[in-house]
Order: sequence, then structure tokens, then C-alpha cells
Amino acid sequence: MLQPPPALVDPFGRAISYLRFSVTDRCDLRCAYCMPAEFDDYETPDNWLQFDEIISLSRIFVGLGVTRIRLTGGEPLVRARFAELTAGIAGIPGLRDLSVSTNGTRLAGLAQRLKQSGVSRLNVSLDTLSRQRFAQLTRRDALPDVLAGLEVARDAGFQPIKINMVWLPGVNQDELDAMIEYCMARGFILRLIENMPMGDAARALGTSTLQPLIAQLRERFGLIDHVIPGGGPARYLASPDLSFSIGFITPMSQHFCEACNRVRLSVTGTLHLCLGQEDRLELLPFLRNGASDREIVEQIRAAVMRKPEKHDFQDRPEKIIRIMASTGG
Ligand code: SAM
Ligand code: SF4
Repeated sequence: MLQPPPALVDPFGRAISYLRFSVTDRCDLRCAYCMPAEFDDYETPDNWLQFDEIISLSRIFVGLGVTRIRLTGGEPLVRARFAELTAGIAGIPGLRDLSVSTNGTRLAGLAQRLKQSGVSRLNVSLDTLSRQRFAQLTRRDALPDVLAGLEVARDAGFQPIKINMVWLPGVNQDELDAMIEYCMARGFILRLIENMPMGDAARALGTSTLQPLIAQLRERFGLIDHVIPGGGPARYLASPDLSFSIGFITPMSQHFCEACNRVRLSVTGTLHLCLGQEDRLELLPFLRNGASDREIVEQIRAAVMRKPEKHDFQDRPEKIIRIMASTGG
């Protein structure tokens, strides 16, 4: 009987089962922690992976043991005909879970089609419920579009929807109770994220630690540790009757590099082996110069052997100059 090919395992014994694929570096927002206000240093369309190339690379990774793919960006929903792409990826045999990270501005028009195309889960970024603050933080007055999009996504059957809130000192920390209430009323799962020093824009906002808040919330609501499927590096707390849960992503104060199971692909086919390091492999030249799948697999295997042990966000916060939107957050 034919044996399946060996899975992708790095030198630290971590098996790669999760791919985050950035399908565009463009975005209709300019979140202060992600992109500089005037950013327009985008990749040229000639260098974008085309849908057949994205699907073909996804199939190769699934053949190597990846079971979950998340499409991200930039803002993935600004890529034209995005629901055709999700349909193509969702149909790859062996893929168990296709999810999307979005800022929600275009969800109202697309949620239904994404659901029908086979997307199983959505993460939506939402850092504030104040329209004015949203406009300041993202440089666009789009909060009503995002809130409307979230309602449509819920009605379309996405369950649960995770809400990602970047925890920014002095900016949105007074909104925790309002966000908890908003999410509880709709069955959304709130996740707080420490700001990572990716690029100058993020560094200017300072980093945050969620540890004091985690301790306070445990005490205030008697929360207990909780596990949520597909939770990745998030740590969750829940009320004893599990009617309420909240997640924390703590790359700064408590990283989970030893359990890292992921790699990232950019829209130009750069395989990033770690969010917080520069180690990479350019796959576009192989795709465009007629390399066989076998050659590409060999390149990927060799690259995974160079996956760094951990990021350096604490010790060398100045190190990563690329912004989150180009890496695929
Ligand atoms: N545009 C989509 C969105 O906003 O959800 C997908 C791409 S965005 C880069 C993915 C995630 O990265 C978002 O949840 C965003 O909040 C997060 N992110 C961006 N810059 C970050 C930073 N400096 N620190 C922590 N999270 C960041
Ligand atoms: Fe755009 Fe997402 Fe970055 Fe905000 S976090 S600027 S929505 S890519």
C-alpha cells in the first residue's frame, strides 16, 4: 500500500498543519497599528499570485499535511472575485477547515457567498464601537458597514464569529465592558490581542501586556481556563457555566512559539517561516519558471528546516520593518 508522504516537521519537532495565505496586500482601511496613513507601497499586480497559483500552492501544502488554511491580507475581501477563490480552495481534498480574517467593511455584500463557497469560520477585526474612534483609528468612517456586515455574517450561519480587538494602551481600553456586552448579545467570541512591533506604525503605539487584565477578569467574574477548537495561540477563559468566554493572544507577554504549527504565504508567493523573523522562501520564480510540484515540495521542505525557534519581538522590537498587512496577519 502507498504510504502518505511524511508531514512537514521542522527541526524543533513542530508539525506544520496550518497555512495563513495573504491573498492581497491592499486594504480599504489604515489601522494605526498596521499601516502608515499614507501607505501606498503596494506590490504590482504582475507579481500577485493568480487564483490558479494560489489554489495550486494550497493543494501542495494540503498534500504535505496542512489541514487548515486561513485567507487573510491586507483585506482579503477587496480582492476581486474573492468568493470564487474560496470555492476553489474549499474544494481541495484533505482540507478540513477554510477560514477568513477580515475587517468586515465588505461583509454585508459577501458573507452569504463566502458561506456558500465553503468558508467555515470568520475572524473580524473590531477595535472600538465608537464611530468617531473607529474613524480615527482606521482613518475611515466605516464602523456602520462593519457592524452591518457582522449581522449579515451571523444570519448567513457563521458560528462562532471571533472578534479580534487589538488592545491599545490609552486608546480603547475603556471599551472592554461595552465590547464584552456587544459580543455576548450576539454570540461572538471576543479576543484581545497584544500590539506587536511590526513596522514603525505599530511601534509608535507602544506594546501592551494583557497579563494584568487576565488576572483581573479571572477575579472579577470567577473565570476558568477554557479550550476552544481552532483556538491557535489564543488562551481562553470562560464563566463556569460556559455562557461567556474571552480569548487572549499574547505574543509579547507569553508567546507560544514552542507549539507553533504555522507558516505564512504572501500574495507574491513569499513563504514566511515566522511572523517575527526574516527567514523566507520566494516561491513565485518556481511557479512562473515551470517547476514541477515535486521541485516545489522539495523547496518547501528545505525551507521548513530553517523555521526559526521563536520570534524576537521582546528582545529586538525594531527588527521587523515589514508591516502586518504585507506578511498576512
Ligand atoms: N484586514 C484583515 C483584518 O484586519 O482582520 C486581515 C488582515 S490583518 C493584518 C489580520 C489581523 O492582524 C487583524 O486582527 C489585526 O488586528 C492584526 N494586526 C495588525 N497589525 C497588528 C499589530 N501590530 N499587532 C497585533 N495585531 C495586529
Ligand atoms: Fe487593513 Fe487589517 Fe491592517 Fe487594518 S489590520 S489596515 S484592516 S490589513
